[in-house]
Amino acid sequence: LKIHSFLTALQGVSGIHRFLTDPADCWAYGVDNSKEHHLPDAVLFPTSAEAVQNIVQACATYQVPLTARGRGTGTPGGAVPIFGGVVLCFEYMNRIVKTYASDRVVIVEPGLLNGDLQKAVRQEGLFWAPDPSSQDYCTVGGNLAHNSAGPHALKYGTPRENTLGLVFVDGQGRLIKTGVQTSKGVVGYDLTRLLIGSEGTLGIIVEATLKLLPLPEKTITLQVFYRSIEDASMAIIRVLQSNIMPAALEMMDSGSLALIRQHQSLAMPQEACAMLLIELEGTSAGAQEAAEYLTPLLSGEGFSQLHKAETAAEKSALWAVRKALSPTLRQIAPNKINEDIVIPISEIPTFVHFVETLSHKHQLSIISFGHAGNGNLHVNILYDAENLSESKRATICLEAIFDKVLALRGTLSGEHGIGLLKKAFIGRELSQNTLDLMKSLKHTFDPHGILNPGKIFP
Ligand SMILES: Cc1cc2nc3c(=O)[nH]c(=O)nc-3n(C[C@H](O)[C@H](O)[C@H](O)COP(=O)(O)OP(=O)(O)OC[C@H]3O[C@@H](n4cnc5c(N)ncnc54)[C@H](O)[C@@H]3O)c2cc1C
Repeated sequence: LKIHSFLTALQGVSGIHRFLTDPADCWAYGVDNSKEHHLPDAVLFPTSAEAVQNIVQACATYQVPLTARGRGTGTPGGAVPIFGGVVLCFEYMNRIVKTYASDRVVIVEPGLLNGDLQKAVRQEGLFWAPDPSSQDYCTVGGNLAHNSAGPHALKYGTPRENTLGLVFVDGQGRLIKTGVQTSKGVVGYDLTRLLIGSEGTLGIIVEATLKLLPLPEKTITLQVFYRSIEDASMAIIRVLQSNIMPAALEMMDSGSLALIRQHQSLAMPQEACAMLLIELEGTSAGAQEAAEYLTPLLSGEGFSQLHKAETAAEKSALWAVRKALSPTLRQIAPNKINEDIVIPISEIPTFVHFVETLSHKHQLSIISFGHAGNGNLHVNILYDAENLSESKRATICLEAIFDKVLALRGTLSGEHGIGLLKKAFIGRELSQNTLDLMKSLKHTFDPHGILNPGKIFP
């Protein structure tokens, strides 16, 4: 009844491209990459900020839950409307509002795909640094809501470091503008960075002012093999203690290499048990110099082979292998728990040794790879959910991994966020006082509790 009155109230409101209410049409909008599902009562496609304001105001009046949705690639279930209500889809708010190329600033709507943004600004010799592997099919709005990033966060940062301002609609339907269009600014509280990573629970982002960077003149990719993951980890520490900051520094463990051997054609030495992918960017001379400087640092204990990729084809083949790893995991086990923990760089050797021991003890494959330069590892526990014993052991491993991460001064999520799946664990990292303050912020932004309810907090 509530939803019926809500939809009636919105009849005639301009700026809504489509309403879906038939369960068969709404079904696909109830699921995301978490594979959790809940059917929404309605799916709305706004085309303007004003329409979003009207929808939020109607949701507040009729107490209808509202879940924003980019393209549903998020992993912790953030876009799943667990209490039904409305899913607000940004497919038709995907314009580039204005580019100020000489100021290195672009203003965009939230439904713009990250990949489409990159293509557009590349013509001006610029790029937006956040580069999740899913960039061709995830939105800027989703990237901001999860603070999603990719390999190049190492040198250039995440959306938090690459977003100057936002326009968002709060839980009362008010339009709020935050931030600046300049490279510096400290007027009032930093609501931009508060909204980024808030997973659609504090406000609905309707516009973003993004900071762009100049495309590098030259990129060199180094592929380096080691005899053990500990040897590779020590090389990472040596590189990050040097004067050279790679644009990206990715690591793959022996399980990842076994997968690559099985499913992809990539030549690698037989003894290799770990691989680093290192990207160096700058002027032509600068990138070459950086590669020469790093080579002896990479060739320490356990070193097996170094290959320098310079042609575009060679480089994209290497990155294709790295990007294919996550989807390939689904081919070898029916289920995976995919975590994206972060630990201080100096603790990588201790952590990877811990995971190997855990994997042997519980007889489960645990495959780790990812943005090792940030200490951000995708730890994948592979198991069969239909096998009760395996499921139980997978949960034991997950709990042990989280405890170890926190004991090593790490954090439970580097880029995926908390959403639905990780909310039970948030209290392990944040104190009750911190959680209480966050909840009171949530209440201030969203007094009716309609924005993505049931997420983040246990
Ligand atoms: C194959 C694959 C590879 C991936 N690789 C990476 C990676 O390398 N790095 C990484 O960080 N992530 C990665 N991801 C996860 C995912 O792509 C990112 O989290 C992405 O930012 C989600 O964008 P989306 O448009 O799909 O958002 P959705 O999944 O639709 O939504 C994500 C969250 O954002 C909220 N939201 C969406 N739009 C708005 C808005 N306008 N205002 C407020 N809240 C909003 C939603 O409510 C939800 O809580 C990967 C996913 C897949 C499937």
